[in-house]
Amino acid sequence: MTTDVAGLRVVVTGGAGFVGSWLCERLLADGAEVVCVDSLVTGRVDNIATLRAHPRFSFVRADICEGIPVRGRVDWVMHLASPASPVHYLRLPLETLRVGSIGTSRALDLAIDHGARFLLASTSEVYGDPLEHPQHESYWGNVNPLGPRSVYDEAKRFAEATTAAYRREHGADTVVARIFNTYGPRMSLEDGRVVTAFVRQALEGRPLTVAGDGSQTRSLCFVADTVDGLVRLAASGLPGPVNIGGDREITVLALAHTVRDLVGSTSEVDFVELPQDDPTRRRPDLTRARTLLGWEPTTPTEEGLRRTMEWIAGELGLDRERLVATAEAAGPSPRPR
Ligand code: NAD
Ligand code: UDP
Repeated sequence: MTTDVAGLRVVVTGGAGFVGSWLCERLLADGAEVVCVDSLVTGRVDNIATLRAHPRFSFVRADICEGIPVRGRVDWVMHLASPASPVHYLRLPLETLRVGSIGTSRALDLAIDHGARFLLASTSEVYGDPLEHPQHESYWGNVNPLGPRSVYDEAKRFAEATTAAYRREHGADTVVARIFNTYGPRMSLEDGRVVTAFVRQALEGRPLTVAGDGSQTRSLCFVADTVDGLVRLAASGLPGPVNIGGDREITVLALAHTVRDLVGSTSEVDFVELPQDDPTRRRPDLTRARTLLGWEPTTPTEEGLRRTMEWIAGELGLDRERLVATAEAAGPSPRPR
C-alpha cells in the first residue's frame, strides 16, 4: 500500500509529545506540511526544537478543548492530544476526560469542516485488564469504570464512540488506531513509564522498582515503528480499529533484567506495590495490521532499548559513549533477586 504523504497538510494534535513529535518528524521527512497543535500540558517544546526551523512545520500552542485555531487547507487530522502515562493522567484526571471527550469532538469538527481524514490515537487501555489474550480488535474489553485508571480508559472509549458516531452521523472519514506500549527517545523522564523508569534507575545505580511480583506482561514497540503504523493507517482509507504495537510479550521482571544487563548496572530489584487495576497481561493480535497494512514492528528490542538508553543518558548529562562501552565490556550482569 502507498503511504505517499508529500504535499498533504496534516494537523497533529499533541504533536509536541513523545509519539507526536516523532510523527511530525516522519511526516515532514515524507514531504507533508505539518501543523502541530499542543497545549504543552505534558509535552515539551524541546521535543520539536529541531523541527521549528523547518519551512513546512508550524506550531500552534492551544488547548484543543477551547477550539483548534488552524487556518487554511487541512487534509489529515491526526489526533494524539491526551495525557498518556498513568502518572500524568492520574495527576490530570479531569483534563484527561475533557480532552478525550470535548477535545476529540473539536478535532473531529476540524476534520469535518475541511473534509479531512481523521485518525484517533486510541489505546490498548480500551481493553482494560483483558480477559481475552492476545487482544483482537473485536474484543470489547474489561474496564473498571470507577477505578483511578478509568479517567484514561473511559476517555479513550468515549473518544472511540464519538469517532464512530461522527462517521455514522456526518460521514466523517475516520480511523481508530489502538496503540500498545510504545517507548523510545523523547519519552518524558518524569512520567514513570516502565522503560524510562528502569533505564534511568539502572543508569543512576538505583534499585529498579518492579511493581507487584513483576509477572504482569506488556508488549513493547519502538516509537518509529508505531509511527510508521499510524501513517500507514491514516493513508489506508480503513475505518479501523487496528492494533498498532509490538507482539513480543515480556514480563515486567524480565524487562527489568534486560534493561539492567543492557546498561551493565548492578542495581537491585525493589518490589513495590502494584497500582490498582494494573492490567495483568497485554499483547496485541496483529493480524489486521499485518494483512491490511503490511505493517509489523521491525526494530529489535535490544536496539530500541539501546537507543532509548543513549538518549536518557544524554538527558541526564551522562557520558553516553562510556556507558555503552561499559555495558558491552560487562556483558550480562548477574540476575537480581
Ligand atoms: P505525551 O504526553 O508525550 O503526548 C501527549 C501530548 O498531548 C502532549 O504534548 C500534551 O501536551 C498534549 N495535550 C494533552 N492535552 C492537550 C490538550 N487539551 N490540548 C492540546 N494538547 C494537549 O503522550 P504520548 O505517549 O506521546 O501519547 C500520544 C498519544 O498516543 C496519546 O493520545 C496516547 O493516549 C496515545 N497512546 C500512547 C501510547 C504510548 O505508549 N506512548 C500507548 C497508547 C496510546
Ligand atoms: N511498572 C513497574 N515499575 C515502574 C513503572 C511501571 O513495574 O517503575 C509496571 C507497571 O505497574 C505496569 C507496567 O510496568 O505493570 C507498565 O507500566 P507503564 O506505566 O509503562 O504503562 P501501562 O501499560 O501501565 O500504561
